[in-house]
Amino acid sequence: MRYDVLIIGGGPVGNYLAKLLAGKLDVAVVEKKRSFGGKACTGIIGRESFERLGFPEEAVLNSLRGAVFRSRIQSFEIARKSAQAYIVDRKTLERKLAEEAVKRGADYFIGTTFTGFRGGRARLQHLKETFEVSADFYVGADGIASTVAREIGAKSNAEFLKGFEVEVVGEFRRDFVEVWVNKDLNAEFFCWVAPLSDEVARVGTLGSLEALNRFLRARGLRPTSILEFKAGTVGLGWRGPWAKDNVALVGDAALQIKPTTAGGIVFGAICAHHLARAILSGDLSTYEASCSQIKRQISFGLKVRKVFKGLSQEGIERLFEVFSSEEARKVIEEQADFDDHLRTFKAIAKRPRLLASLLRISPSLIRALI
Ligand SMILES: Cc1cc2nc3c(=O)[nH]c(=O)nc-3n(C[C@H](O)[C@H](O)[C@H](O)COP(=O)(O)OP(=O)(O)OC[C@H]3O[C@@H](n4cnc5c(N)ncnc54)[C@H](O)[C@@H]3O)c2cc1C
Repeated sequence: MRYDVLIIGGGPVGNYLAKLLAGKLDVAVVEKKRSFGGKACTGIIGRESFERLGFPEEAVLNSLRGAVFRSRIQSFEIARKSAQAYIVDRKTLERKLAEEAVKRGADYFIGTTFTGFRGGRARLQHLKETFEVSADFYVGADGIASTVAREIGAKSNAEFLKGFEVEVVGEFRRDFVEVWVNKDLNAEFFCWVAPLSDEVARVGTLGSLEALNRFLRARGLRPTSILEFKAGTVGLGWRGPWAKDNVALVGDAALQIKPTTAGGIVFGAICAHHLARAILSGDLSTYEASCSQIKRQISFGLKVRKVFKGLSQEGIERLFEVFSSEEARKVIEEQADFDDHLRTFKAIAKRPRLLASLLRISPSLIRALI
């Protein structure tokens, strides 16, 4: 068997890339699971990106128009009139993208695992059968524990964190996500509540299960009201190279993940566009450089992460004082972009009073970010 492009991994990013390339080239996708979905993922995607990238509407479970930020002792709200983000169903998202790719001519090998390269060909295993497929280009869209990344000798200096998430019954504001930044509950990351309705939400955090349990108690949610529990891993940092010879990495396999929120679907899909262009031009050497905008976002997010880790809860409380001011909330409400935190920060840094307040809290923090 021979294809122009063999994509390893039928998650959202692999299927999205297949959709972009199918019909233009002979494309196949290899997915080790026997059905789509199932991964731990809150499924929050910024509305603008969702629409720009042409993700399927059928996947939307709920719309969010604002966020409530809570620290140990403070809270403030950022609200807009229209939807700013969607919460999606992963299975529907992956399946609809795969359907589109198949309709355009892509082949899918479901329940088939890529085990490595041999003699320039991909070795695949389906049940007890082992077979080989050759392609002009191979793409590793096989997630955080990418076998393709290992096969091409990609190196990483990333911080890998466990993610824990439950779907739980409680009382929620349907159109507001909650972001709890409280190191007493979790020193590693923020905790989130992403409502699917007034009565059910996806609640999660990164770090440890104990942190999630602490948060559930603090939020008044009962362990016996949990309907679903999922765990996964995120990688915050770099893994590279993103392309070597005729093999490229995309999505979580390349750690194209926003370090501020651990969201990876949008960055992966944007990089899939760059990768599709490189593949169509027959030259992968331009791929990584063409993703410079995403690299800048990751780089900024890593700095924010470093600052977060270095801050005490008292420092976070002082930041909350600045961000909850009327001026800051106005800037965020007008300028914030769900997938472009660098732009939001720049808008805040342009306000002399806000910048001065932030500088008073931590000069090194602001210098690091600027
Ligand atoms: C708790 C948690 C919450 C999250 N919340 C969000 C969120 O709200 N928004 C957001 O954007 N992101 C979120 N993420 C991150 C998001 O899940 C990932 O960034 C996203 O899944 C990346 O998509 P992908 O297609 O690159 O990789 P994956 O979704 O990991 O897909 C990779 C696919 O490759 C397949 N595969 C792996 N190895 C092989 C192999 N050897 N052979 C064949 N197939 C293989 C896997 O079965 C899988 O289907 C969250 C992550 C966690 C852990």
